[in-house]
Amino acid sequence: MGNPKAFLTVPRKEAGYRPVHDRIHDFGEVEQTLNTKDRQEQASRCMDCGVPFCHWACPLGNKDPEWNDALYHGEWETAYKLLKKTNPFPEFTGRICPALCEKACVLYHTTGEAVTNRENEAAIAERAFLEGYVTIENPQRNGKKVAVIGAGPAGLAAANDLNLMGYTVTVFEKNEAAGGLLRYGIPNFKLNKQIIDRRISVMEQEGVEFRYNSEISEESGISGISRDYDAVVISTGTPTARDLKAPGRELKGVHLALELLSQQNRVLAGMSFSDEERITTKGKNVLVIGGGDTGSDCIGTAHRQGCKSVTQIEIMPKPPVGHNPNTPWPNWPVILKTTSSHEEGCTRRWNINTLEFLGENGKVTGVKVQPIDWKPNPEGGRPIMVEAGEPEIIKAELVLLAMGFLKPEHPEYPDNVFVCGDAANGASLVVRAIASGKQTAQKVDAFLKR
Ligand SMILES: Cc1cc2nc3c(=O)[nH]c(=O)nc-3n(C[C@H](O)[C@H](O)[C@H](O)COP(=O)(O)OP(=O)(O)OC[C@H]3O[C@@H](n4cnc5c(N)ncnc54)[C@H](O)[C@@H]3O)c2cc1C
Ligand code: SF4
Repeated sequence: MGNPKAFLTVPRKEAGYRPVHDRIHDFGEVEQTLNTKDRQEQASRCMDCGVPFCHWACPLGNKDPEWNDALYHGEWETAYKLLKKTNPFPEFTGRICPALCEKACVLYHTTGEAVTNRENEAAIAERAFLEGYVTIENPQRNGKKVAVIGAGPAGLAAANDLNLMGYTVTVFEKNEAAGGLLRYGIPNFKLNKQIIDRRISVMEQEGVEFRYNSEISEESGISGISRDYDAVVISTGTPTARDLKAPGRELKGVHLALELLSQQNRVLAGMSFSDEERITTKGKNVLVIGGGDTGSDCIGTAHRQGCKSVTQIEIMPKPPVGHNPNTPWPNWPVILKTTSSHEEGCTRRWNINTLEFLGENGKVTGVKVQPIDWKPNPEGGRPIMVEAGEPEIIKAELVLLAMGFLKPEHPEYPDNVFVCGDAANGASLVVRAIASGKQTAQKVDAFLKR
């Protein structure tokens, strides 16, 4: 284990974010890094618990105690090798994972200060690329072909594992580049897209073929491809965002969150859009409907594009700060989350229902909302929404709908077709998508070896 007394003597230290006045003017990553000494000291806090809940809570089963120990001793290459055993893309999760492991850490439960597993993971991954521990494998081919449809984290994980097992893997992606929501959802200030390019380059050198601008339609494409390939993995995510069918939805200036986010990421990648197509928050009062992470990403993007103000509303009540007795361990703690984007400035409101989009000359000017409350349902089940006060109008020249995604439905596929990631489970997390891709690679392998 690490230093047996470090958890008593070394406090948790996060690298923190770049100062708001600095980061707000660019789309560079907001998170900073610790120096090597501090990073190793943070790893020394891991107590190597007899039952490591962090390992259990991580959907990938990452062996945090093992690699934290190697990191503490300065054995960076060993740390990377241990991490790579369970996580093919620690440079992604190290940046944007909500760190399920840290909410399971015994130090979190006893002192409120979990080991900085996520940041440690990112540090190990970056050192591995820097020092050349990320090597190109040359797997021996077994003569079988697998098609992967969709190059998000689930598809990439499945493709990576199947390729390393010896299958000849072709990834079909409808977009012009790989990454899925890593590239066209998550803003650059959380994940620089060169980090994705660097990993795709490794996979290409190892033999994975990527075919971009290749949409495989559910109707005809999948049955055709399932005849041409020994197996097919569908990892097409959740393409349909939840919409808000309130009056005035057709007004100009009301958009789904991803319309803003994906366009902004494309602009940063060098694409241009006409004034008519371009969605911008510049000089506008922005209203984000939906209190989750996608909404938060809209807030950070709105600031960087130069909005006048930004308000985020959520229909559910404000979660408690720090601890929620309704979500005890081992549930995920539903507590108030304040992201780097919230820190940059935002009015946040809860218990607000949207009634109507208001506009002039076809353009949105505001949204009529209703403050509400939730009363317990005497018959059990979902609480009942009741009005709490008078309706009011929130002024907004741009409204972004960030209310989640619909879980896709799939027809019955031939036996050699497998579905994974958000396409199988509904909208979730990158770490769960990677885990699902890896599990699916195992299922494909078992199927093709039967
Ligand atoms: C704005 C936003 C921010 C998020 N932030 C975080 C975060 O910080 N941390 C976190 O853990 N999770 C986050 N998530 C969730 C996370 O991004 C997803 O859970 C994850 O990307 C799902 O991976 P996936 O591979 O299943 O699907 P996706 O990432 O959606 O990838 C699906 C891929 O399939 C392609 N595709 C679709 N249909 C076809 C077709 N017919 N033919 C060919 N290709 C097709 C798509 O173009 C896409 O590239 C965020 C989600 C959003 C929307
Ligand atoms: S992938 Fe996420 S949950 Fe797993 S060890 Fe890394 S930060 Fe923790």
